[in-house]
Amino acid sequence: MSKPFDIELERLTGQPSYSELVRGGGAGQRGTFFLETFGCQMNDHDSEKVAGLLLSRGYQQVETPEAASLILYNTCSIREKAAQKVFSRLGEYREKQSEGKVIGVLGCVAQQEGEEIFRRAPWVNLVCGSASYRKLPEMLGQLEAGNQRVTGLETDTDETFETEVTRRDNPWRAYLTIIEGCDKACSYCVVPFTRGPERSRASDSILREVRQLAELGYSEVQLLGQTVNSYADPTSRRMRFSELLLAVADVQGIRRVRFTTSHPSDFRPDIVEAIEQQPRICDHVHLPVQSGSTRVLRAMQRTYSREEYTRSKPADRHNDGRHRRIS
Ligand code: SF4
Repeated sequence: MSKPFDIELERLTGQPSYSELVRGGGAGQRGTFFLETFGCQMNDHDSEKVAGLLLSRGYQQVETPEAASLILYNTCSIREKAAQKVFSRLGEYREKQSEGKVIGVLGCVAQQEGEEIFRRAPWVNLVCGSASYRKLPEMLGQLEAGNQRVTGLETDTDETFETEVTRRDNPWRAYLTIIEGCDKACSYCVVPFTRGPERSRASDSILREVRQLAELGYSEVQLLGQTVNSYADPTSRRMRFSELLLAVADVQGIRRVRFTTSHPSDFRPDIVEAIEQQPRICDHVHLPVQSGSTRVLRAMQRTYSREEYTRSKPADRHNDGRHRRIS
C-alpha cells in the first residue's frame, strides 16, 4: 500500500479521533500493526478497511514489521506461484514470532490454502479469507486473549465487509466496494472460491458513505467489485447499477465517478445511457474481453461470444463525438 495519511476518524464515526484515543490511553494500548498488501484494488481497499478496523480498536499503524506487534499480509493468488511467494515471504517473518509478534495471512491465498498455512508455517497465528473479514473483530479478540491459531475461512455468507472506519490512502479518490464475490465460473479464475458468491451492499448504505466522503473533501469515488455492473441492490428500492451511478454522481461535491471491473454479459444499454447523460460519470470503461475468439471464450467459460461482446461494448465515441476509453 502507499503511504497512509490520517483521515478525520471522528467525522466518519462520530467517535473520538485516533489521536484522541492515543491521548486517552486507548490507541496503541493494544499494540501496533504492519499491513502489507498485494494484488488488485479490491485487496487494496480491503486493507484500508482492515486498517480502519484496527485503528478503531486502538491499534497503531507502523511502517515496518520490526516496529509491529501484529504483522498482517494481505495476499493475492491471481498469478501463478503466488502461494510459493507467500510462503517464502512468511519465512522472512519466522523469527518475528519468537519476538512475541502475532502474524496473520489474509486474502485469497489464505482462503485457498486454509489451515495448510499453519502446517507449512507454524509461526502463523491468523488465517482469514476475504469472505470472512466481517468476523475480524471477533478473531482479533481471540488473538488478544492469547489464542495461538485463529481461522476465518467461511465463504457461505450473504454479508459484505463493512466497517465503521476505513483508513483511505488517497486524499481525494475513495474506493468503495459495492459488490463482493462472483457468481460466474470462468475456468481460469479463483475468485468464486476465494471471495465466495456475489453479495451486493445496500444502496442506502453506499450513498450514505458517499455523502460522508464528499463532506470530508473527496471529489472522486471509484465503485469496486469483481463484476461491479452485476450489482443487485438488496433493499426494497432495487436500484439498478445505472441508477446507483447516477445517484452517486448527484451527491454534492462528487466530481468524478468511476467503476471497475465490468463484465460484458451484464453491460446493459442503461449503463451506457447513464454515462452519456451524466458527465461526472467518467467515460473510461474497463470491460475485459479476455479473447477475440468465441471458441476460446467458450473454453474459458466466459458467458458471451465475440459478437455479443462487440454488441455490449459501448461505442468508442459519444453521440457528440467525444472519445470514450475502453480497456
Ligand atoms: S467474472 Fe471475473 S471474477 Fe468472476 S470468475 Fe470470471 S474472471 Fe473471475
